[in-house]
Amino acid sequence: MSGLFSAAFLRQVGWQADVYERSPVELVGRGAGITTHPELLQALEASGAGTRDLGIEVPKRFAIDRDGRITCERPLRQILTSWDRLQRLLRETIDPAHYHLGWTFERVEQNGSGVRVHFNGGRVEEADILIGGDGIRSSVRGEVAPELQPAYAGYYIWRGAPNEADLSPRTLKEIFPYFVFYLPPRQEVITYPIAGFNNDLRSGHRRYNFIWYRVADADQLRAMNVDKNGVQHEFSVPPPLIRRDLIEQMYADAREIMPEVMLDCVMTMRQPFITPIYDFTAPRIVFGRVAMVGDAGANARPHMGFGVAKAGCDAQALARALGSHDDIDSALKAYNAERQPIGNTIVMHSRKLGTHLGVNLKTEEDRRMHALLQTDEAMLDWIAVPNFLDAYK
Ligand SMILES: Cc1cc2nc3c(=O)[nH]c(=O)nc-3n(C[C@H](O)[C@H](O)[C@H](O)COP(=O)(O)OP(=O)(O)OC[C@H]3O[C@@H](n4cnc5c(N)ncnc54)[C@H](O)[C@@H]3O)c2cc1C
Repeated sequence: MSGLFSAAFLRQVGWQADVYERSPVELVGRGAGITTHPELLQALEASGAGTRDLGIEVPKRFAIDRDGRITCERPLRQILTSWDRLQRLLRETIDPAHYHLGWTFERVEQNGSGVRVHFNGGRVEEADILIGGDGIRSSVRGEVAPELQPAYAGYYIWRGAPNEADLSPRTLKEIFPYFVFYLPPRQEVITYPIAGFNNDLRSGHRRYNFIWYRVADADQLRAMNVDKNGVQHEFSVPPPLIRRDLIEQMYADAREIMPEVMLDCVMTMRQPFITPIYDFTAPRIVFGRVAMVGDAGANARPHMGFGVAKAGCDAQALARALGSHDDIDSALKAYNAERQPIGNTIVMHSRKLGTHLGVNLKTEEDRRMHALLQTDEAMLDWIAVPNFLDAYK
């Protein structure tokens, strides 16, 4: 996403930009839900991607208790979209001649006035700059700043997106149209509607995004990262390889604690999967002629649902700097000065929100935030709300 945003904004200031994606096939069918923010909508419009058929608007958010009763609610209109939809909109902004599937970045050489970029298979490209938009495990960052490594947050999420058509009438009536929280001790369940397959927004064809945060220390995560073939994975197990015993245990735990409407979501998820939560922030995001954007530059825990918004704003700021400076190095310096502090702020804010789960509460401020976030009301006011960055201006 940050690569496509970068190319779109760079073209607007007269640059030629090519995107190299390691996947040999189009990135379609990724089901995750994405909360939108004003910054994301602005970046989509400005990039030319637009916001048509973006997603589903919910009128409000509320929290429920174990019996499914609403404990508190807030009117808050929010558009919920999906990774798929955003990727499709952005993908349409780029001329296929400049979008290269199946090219994996391997290394970069710099000579002070440009870059030579090496891809798998021996392909080499020369350019004025290299933009690393290759995600939290960025290989570009691994080349220029190998010491910058994401850290495990001490918790993970079970995720899935059951089909609207599979949910019970009660679930559809009571929670499906809304952004809903269920908050048992040291856990967090968040649900909201998203489009169905192929951005199907018709009633009966949509899905319900389901996220269940749970605490696990590094040893427990390591044990969970053994797949169904007994292979140990370093960061996470691909969804089809998740062990059956972990899924069965998850179902058993859900039966113990979930309200009926949430349990319905759990039991109808076709392929529940696990995402361990990592984050990192970097002291700089420009390394000579290499600039990092999106998750590669700073990666927040997903409590605000702001990752794609940040990717769009990074890309926009980079192009703006390149378009308004006479020399590239001053432009990159200006980009770093503008976006590194914001990336850092976003990561710090996400750590604040993560204190809800009570992991690694090291400072007085951590404990204060943890205490503050123990009520349903506070969680509705802090999690995935728009304009949270205003408090830092
Ligand atoms: C559970 C969860 C919930 C989230 N919810 C939200 C939300 O509600 N709202 C929101 O805005 N964000 C959300 N995010 C974050 C969002 O998904 C990311 O911030 C966003 O995808 C970042 O985009 P990116 O382009 O920087 O990185 P990525 O999406 O990771 O893309 C990186 C790309 O680089 C490619 N690549 C990697 N290595 C190489 C290489 N060596 N050579 C070539 N290509 C390579 C990859 O194949 C990939 O296509 C969530 C994240 C998680 C984990």
